Amino acid sequence: MNGITLALSKGRIFEETLPLLAAAGITPTDNPETSRKLIIGTNRPDVRLVIVRATDTPTYVQYGAADMGIAGKDTLIEHGGAGLYQPLDLNIAKCRLCVAVRKDFDYAAAVKRGARIRVATKYVKAAREHFAAKGMHVDLIKLYGSMELAPLVGLADAIVDLVSTGNTLKANNLIEVEDIMPISSRLVVNQASLKLKRELIQPVLEAFAGAIKP
Ligand code: AMP
Repeated sequence: MNGITLALSKGRIFEETLPLLAAAGITPTDNPETSRKLIIGTNRPDVRLVIVRATDTPTYVQYGAADMGIAGKDTLIEHGGAGLYQPLDLNIAKCRLCVAVRKDFDYAAAVKRGARIRVATKYVKAAREHFAAKGMHVDLIKLYGSMELAPLVGLADAIVDLVSTGNTLKANNLIEVEDIMPISSRLVVNQASLKLKRELIQPVLEAFAGAIKP
């Protein structure tokens, strides 16, 4: 494609990217929440959007199927970031990556006595790095969703998950015991695209940078 393709996921990232796109003079012609289209045009003939699963955004950009994308730091850590240029923290879709346990699980005591705990998470890489840095031995169990269920049914002692308001933890009698890192979404750009399509990408990058909210 001669123009540029931006990979986005539905939901929070799409919603919070709209004002940034507007700042770059880009308006999508369809809403992915109501349309089943996976390729969405914009008011600009040289800009299109592709709607992908959040965890796939870095992959589309890495291989150049999309020139740019917007992905959470959590997703980028798990992907590894190969082939991606990450010029901007857009400060959108903010939350935190945390360790949480059942209210009746004494995490501090388990850590103190060096117990080998079972941790369920979608964020295996970030979790492994976190516990390794603490010198803790953990058995990681990879899940793809609803991590909150794992400690409730005895699958794991703890979870590593994203927390925003804390309502999901609260509703499931879980408590946060460690804050691993703040998370927000970043703009990622294919390294070859940045060189070959700089005249198209640079103005979008600058408009996004100017529209970032603190
Ligand atoms: P909350 O109840 O507001 O703390 O939200 C927690 C739930 O929403 C968890 O299941 C998280 O995995 C998910 N979540 C929260 N923030 C984000 C985010 N920025 N990106 C993706 N998932 C999120």
